[in-house]
Amino acid sequence: MRLQKFMAKAGVASRRKSEEIIKAGNVKVNDEIIDELGYKVDVDKDIIKVNGKIIKIEVKKIYILINKPTEYITSVSDQFNRKTVMSLIPNIDQRVYPVGRLDYDTSGLLLLTNDGDLTYKLTHPSHEINKTYISKVKGIPTKEELLKFRKGLRIEDYITSKAEIEILNKSKDSSILKIIIHEGKNRQVRKMCDAIGHPVLELKRIAMGNIELEDLKEGQFRYLDEDEINYLK
Ligand code: URA
Repeated sequence: MRLQKFMAKAGVASRRKSEEIIKAGNVKVNDEIIDELGYKVDVDKDIIKVNGKIIKIEVKKIYILINKPTEYITSVSDQFNRKTVMSLIPNIDQRVYPVGRLDYDTSGLLLLTNDGDLTYKLTHPSHEINKTYISKVKGIPTKEELLKFRKGLRIEDYITSKAEIEILNKSKDSSILKIIIHEGKNRQVRKMCDAIGHPVLELKRIAMGNIELEDLKEGQFRYLDEDEINYLK
């Protein structure tokens, strides 16, 4: 972006006035005075100072929740041309990114935002936001298996932290479970269910902390409200 346009967008002054400020030698890019008008800045990397003060373009923060259907990949693009979750959200000026991921075969609640701090916080291993899943699994877990699941299991070289699990419904050869975990390892729920001998047949995330899917239909999105955003932060 041209320097004077950047300054105008950052609210320093009009473009015309910004040009005067540049010509007067009052603008530095990465600590070097820039007094030419056509100078192009990299808005993501360069540090721009006007009269010694760093200026920035305030990007509006966007928080979107989608109900991801299965057979969508949680990624901005896909080398195999599979459908991505980006095709489910409206065309907006801001670039948003998924917060963490859901497997191709998993459906349910997925957040997308351009708020990097929030993404960092919610995906950091030390941040223990509850994630609630409904899962259909093969067979019916015994009391001992449920206990093992709750206490923590070895999955590969890792012991999971405490989790919650309850049977909501059972049939002859499968059961519906409600599972709450506080971590977000790759395919964690599937691996935990495998570890107690009950492979996942279907998996859906219905909540992250207090944020719930409620009656949002598969493939649809909504914006988080003020309370939900404050809660996550
Ligand atoms: N755990 C999994 O195994 N898969 C997901 O998509 C989310 C949690």
